[in-house]
Amino acid sequence: MRKKIQDIANWLNVDAGKYGDILVTGVSIDTRTINEGELFIPFRGEKTNGHKYVPQAFEKGASCSLWMKDEPHPPKDVPLLFVDDSESALQQMARKYREELQASFIGITGSNGKTSSKDILASLLSPFYKVQKTIGNFNNELGLPLTILSLDEDTEMAVLEMGMSGFGEIEFLSNLAKPHYAIITNIGEAHMQELGSREGIAKAKFEIINGFDAEGVLCYDGDEPLLRDLVERTPQLKTKSFGFQSGNDLTVRKIETTEKGSRFIVEGELNGEFFIPVLGKHQVKNTLGAMLVAKAIGLSEEQIRQGLSQVSLTDMRMQLVPLGDLLFINDAYNAAPTSMKAAIEFLQSTSMRKDKWLVLGDMLELGEKEREFHEQLANYIDEQKISKICLFGPRMEWLYHRLAPKFPGRILHTKEDYGKIIDEIKQHATKDSLILLKGSRGMKLETVLKAFQ
Ligand code: ATP
Ligand code: MG
Repeated sequence: MRKKIQDIANWLNVDAGKYGDILVTGVSIDTRTINEGELFIPFRGEKTNGHKYVPQAFEKGASCSLWMKDEPHPPKDVPLLFVDDSESALQQMARKYREELQASFIGITGSNGKTSSKDILASLLSPFYKVQKTIGNFNNELGLPLTILSLDEDTEMAVLEMGMSGFGEIEFLSNLAKPHYAIITNIGEAHMQELGSREGIAKAKFEIINGFDAEGVLCYDGDEPLLRDLVERTPQLKTKSFGFQSGNDLTVRKIETTEKGSRFIVEGELNGEFFIPVLGKHQVKNTLGAMLVAKAIGLSEEQIRQGLSQVSLTDMRMQLVPLGDLLFINDAYNAAPTSMKAAIEFLQSTSMRKDKWLVLGDMLELGEKEREFHEQLANYIDEQKISKICLFGPRMEWLYHRLAPKFPGRILHTKEDYGKIIDEIKQHATKDSLILLKGSRGMKLETVLKAFQ
């Protein structure tokens, strides 16, 4: 973004005073990372009040700062824009800037695979367009507006992740970003606590269509009956479905995994063989959504094939990490029941290496049914295919009790000691071992890798 303070004051309907001509080159909410020329946005949190950092922002070259009207002692002789609430002001700035941008906007939501799908789609489009995407996981009511305000005027494709934990949130984000295309990657169990049921989760994700105009296209997981249902009840909506089951607009027929990635055959809107340098059946599914959007945007089958061959993902998502003789799959970014199941299935089905280890950490934020969700993982774990299991965290004790009889002498549980797992791997893993690390973000299972680096 490059705007004059006057333009921003107009967006916010406030007075720029004598500073209207100063150029603003972006926005920042953190004085530790603010760049010269950016506008600083102070938030009032429970622990700190961002207003106390405003002088520091100017010392570091901020062009301007917001200031909440009811906050006492504003600094003098610096460009301040006085607003009622800095969060709403940030959102309003993003809304107004969005209206000026010519780019195509793509919104991505779903229980799992938002960041992966975002990365896949952005990579796929980038040989052909100027593409910008959500940085990291900036997918909420602050992250999304910050992402929009970080877009360049000449961006052609804006690929945005939209996350949520309750009803109304995706609707809000979609109305802000006004996407032309949207993807719902899947429906899982995360946020059951707030939404009550899987139906609730599906409805909440479906809110992504609320920001569409009449031309908006929704690409969705057609293997999910709850989404099919919602689509059927919205006949005027343009939709494309993808998945493993026949009857979808884009269906995967066959997947072959190599050490380099996944080769797969599709039929429907696109046909033939494609390759992505990424592991996991679920990543192939995420790729289908991206392919449908690329097709709807106007890329040819050959362009899509070419774009996919150079895809790369953000770290810690099914990332192959060779360390010495050992081969790890780092999927420690996060975990919920659906993604756990997907990762376990991948490990069990791959022929990359024979000695397969599961290192699993607690799944957090699952609500009342957390015990059941942990115990149910036992149903997917095959004692013929998995050689060793290391479980980490207090909740994994539930799974431990389920699995212990099936894995005598091949299972370990520790509530908080990474050292035990590291020792086990050091003593027993070999050049034939493939070790999958997966758990919720709070479990920080990537710590285990550090011992081998
Ligand atoms: P978050 O809500 O934390 O932002 P996200 O939706 O962005 O998550 P990713 O970060 O892409 O999801 O992936 C999270 C985890 O889910 C990873 O472990 C990944 O391997 C797994 N995963 C990705 N896509 C799918 C899918 N379609 N189905 C099941 N699991 C998936
Ligand atoms: Mg994400």
